[in-house]
Amino acid sequence: IKTIGVLTSGGDAPGMNAAIRAVVRTGIYNNLRVMGIKRGYAGLLQKEIMEMDVTSVGETIQRGGTILQTARCPEFVTLEGQKQAAEICHEMGIDAVVVIGGDGSYKGARALSHQGIAVVGIPGTIDLDIACTEYTIGFDTAVNTAMEAIDKVRDTSSSHERCSIIEVMGRNAGYIALWCGIANGAEDILLPEKFDGDEQRIIDNIIANRKKGKQHHIIINAEGIGDSNGMAKRIEAATGIETRATILGYMQRGGSPTCKDRVFASTMGALAVDLLVQGKINRIIAYKDGEYINLDIDEALEMQKNISEYQYKISRILAK
Ligand code: ATP
Repeated sequence: IKTIGVLTSGGDAPGMNAAIRAVVRTGIYNNLRVMGIKRGYAGLLQKEIMEMDVTSVGETIQRGGTILQTARCPEFVTLEGQKQAAEICHEMGIDAVVVIGGDGSYKGARALSHQGIAVVGIPGTIDLDIACTEYTIGFDTAVNTAMEAIDKVRDTSSSHERCSIIEVMGRNAGYIALWCGIANGAEDILLPEKFDGDEQRIIDNIIANRKKGKQHHIIINAEGIGDSNGMAKRIEAATGIETRATILGYMQRGGSPTCKDRVFASTMGALAVDLLVQGKINRIIAYKDGEYINLDIDEALEMQKNISEYQYKISRILAK
């Protein structure tokens, strides 16, 4: 392998720049040429590819988002698109591509590997919803951003003795909601993996807490459940307690990455290049049981995970 490409795909996540920077600088350290591919698979198909040097990733480690930009590319899901992408890689002399993204992006990477291009995947998503790993780039920053925002909403909620429903991101997974629920001491946490739609239980909980003298009632609702505004109206009608919904939205995805995201992303970026240098191809980098590991891409895509039952249980006990 002489030339590697690097791209970010799917949703952007803080820390992706640290990973790109590590791929570029570790690649150059190992005498490889490194090509930056813009806008994920879409940019690959459009040949938006430029050579990167050590200075092209200067001043990026502290920046949120992704300097390579990202996109979703339906064209690449077709075999024709994948063949075309591989041809472009051959034409540009790219032997291997480091893909920073989620499960969807890994499926794209696997498809590219079937066309003869070596790939390595790095987990990049704020949602933590990649089965093979306990860490994904951006989750730490996103939960810290959400936690701080929820603390602020809580001040107003307590002052006005309101019930607040705060909706956090996470797509169909409840990891951000669960972590914020614990970190912010929420009275109720609604996770797509757990919530059965029983709003009466929440209403009973609000009334019981009010009787106990609690000044506020914070409900963290996950994006995968949604309908926070509708829920707020129904809760207010049933309890007579003023209830407001706050949807945190994209502010959770942006911002300067935390130290953890910078260090983990840097390590994973370097590991991706190390694997390629060792000839270990079509692997996904993951973090499990306190160690960085790598798995075969097929194996990684077959894995499934769920939120921790124990974490969920303690979140309920601590909210009493
Ligand atoms: P996030 O969870 O942050 O959204 P993701 O990587 O799961 O990240 P997706 O939108 O699912 O995001 O996938 C990104 C891109 O990967 C898609 O736009 C598409 O180009 C490619 N991709 C997804 N699934 C496949 C597939 N089955 N085959 C080939 N390419 C795919």
